[in-house]
Amino acid sequence: AAPAGVSAGPKFVVNSPNVVYTDTEIRSKYTYRTTTVTEGENGIRVATPRETVYDFKVETKVPKLGVMLVGWGGNNGTTVTAGIMANRRNLVWDTRNGPQAANYYGSVVMGSTLKLGNDAKTNLDVNIPFHDVLPMVHPNDFVIGGWDISGLNLADAMDRAKVLEPTLKNLVRKEMAEMVPLPSIYYPDFIAANQEDRADNLIPGSKACTAHVERIRKDIRDFKAANNLDKVIVQWTANTERFADIIEGVNDTAENLLKAIEAGHEEVSPSTVFAVACILEGAPFINGSPQNTFVPGAIDLAEKHGAFIGGDDFKSGQTKMKSALVDFLITAGIKLTSIASYNHLGNNDGKNLSSHRQFRSKEISKSNVVDDMVAANTVLYGEGEHPDHIVVIKYVPAVGDSKRAMDEYSAEIFLGGHQTISITNVCEDSLLASPLIIDLVIIAELMTRVQWKLHGAEGGDYKSFHSVLSVLSYMLKAPLTPPGTPVINALAKQRAALANIFRACVGLEPESDMTLEHKLF
Ligand code: NAD
Repeated sequence: AAPAGVSAGPKFVVNSPNVVYTDTEIRSKYTYRTTTVTEGENGIRVATPRETVYDFKVETKVPKLGVMLVGWGGNNGTTVTAGIMANRRNLVWDTRNGPQAANYYGSVVMGSTLKLGNDAKTNLDVNIPFHDVLPMVHPNDFVIGGWDISGLNLADAMDRAKVLEPTLKNLVRKEMAEMVPLPSIYYPDFIAANQEDRADNLIPGSKACTAHVERIRKDIRDFKAANNLDKVIVQWTANTERFADIIEGVNDTAENLLKAIEAGHEEVSPSTVFAVACILEGAPFINGSPQNTFVPGAIDLAEKHGAFIGGDDFKSGQTKMKSALVDFLITAGIKLTSIASYNHLGNNDGKNLSSHRQFRSKEISKSNVVDDMVAANTVLYGEGEHPDHIVVIKYVPAVGDSKRAMDEYSAEIFLGGHQTISITNVCEDSLLASPLIIDLVIIAELMTRVQWKLHGAEGGDYKSFHSVLSVLSYMLKAPLTPPGTPVINALAKQRAALANIFRACVGLEPESDMTLEHKLF
């Protein structure tokens, strides 16, 4: 990795007249090829290839990056912090299976590769680490901080979380003990009543107000100054809140939302207050929980300020499997007829979700994840037809952070036959979520350095991607997209979008997987 604050040299160069490397930027001219479909005569569709030529530029200087987590003292917050520490220090700890070294498994950016091209001599694939496609921050260089309504230092909070091996905890305990979350805002109506006993680290006031927004903005500025940071990214990994009601005149526009905060309206959630503070401060804000933090007024505010936002709800276990498996079934032409999903978990997230209104947020976030795949297959599904889909979550303290997800998929196959697939997925929840937190930060930060314009005289000035970073969808269960644009849940499509947008930034074609070089000779 390039040291923070230093211009990162490319790990490969693209040999093309469309790509230029300067001291500070990679510039590419990229032809985006799509197909426009119109309704022709006699109902015959006409598909017309289209080309749009874009100029992309990517700033290559990797910033010194701060990451502030809301809910830093929780299972995810402590696990991701200790995990980065372990990687930074190349720690190896003893387990009953032998020595275990730190790694970034489960992170797309740090743990996966993408095909750069074919070897000139052998014609075989040449793959590079995903992290090398463009200059990206290395997670070992993150400076981590954040807020929590619980004032435990991170060493004690990591004990409370019961996620990490004692041998690893011993190696990071001293450093973790020095980290103490900043006080946070707590509006009891938004999270489960059973969380009250940990709320001992609070900024005074129990409903939204301008002072809270200003306090959070100051916390971000102070953190930035104290650590000499170029940028800060904020991520909500705090408890799931109940949904906020969308009320005309309260949270429907940017102006109304700011007024509602000023007036102390009870329907403005803590996560929305954090989002507003980050938008006003120009710090990208990502929501890792299912609630509707991004009420229309918050999205409007982000657009007005050109600030980046992303969400909602980490796609870690059951839903990630679902968005891969359902994509497979339906694109295979198999008619999925039902999904019954049961979960039980015993961590504090599960305890919070045992309360109905917070469970409801999760249920909504989990329920729409197959809609795009179903709607795309008009051969299998008629207008308005949809597989049955239920989601149940239960709190079982004994299993701790080791979440159990049991899913049954039923499908109709050839000539009325049936296929039933049962999956039991057992995994440590926070060990799945932590790498997603890392990916979301790295990609969101990179997107702050990417700009585009239409190529040619009519192109105008460079601008950023839309405020709503739908390119983060791969990591998120209920992806937020720019208003009026479709949501993509299918996992393979989400990954292809991510990889191909980054390829475009270095002037490379999307990876088509046609491999004609191995078929036509
Ligand atoms: P957790 O309960 O262990 O941690 C949440 C932390 O947030 C707690 O320490 C709590 O004190 C703190 N908190 C609550 N309200 C706060 C506020 N207003 N300001 C600051 N801190 C506040 O939960 P977790 O397991 O770390 O999960 C965090 C969130 O991520 C949950 O909402 C969960 O639904 C979501 N999520 C987790 C996963 C996963 O772990 N695999 C997947 C998807 C979504």
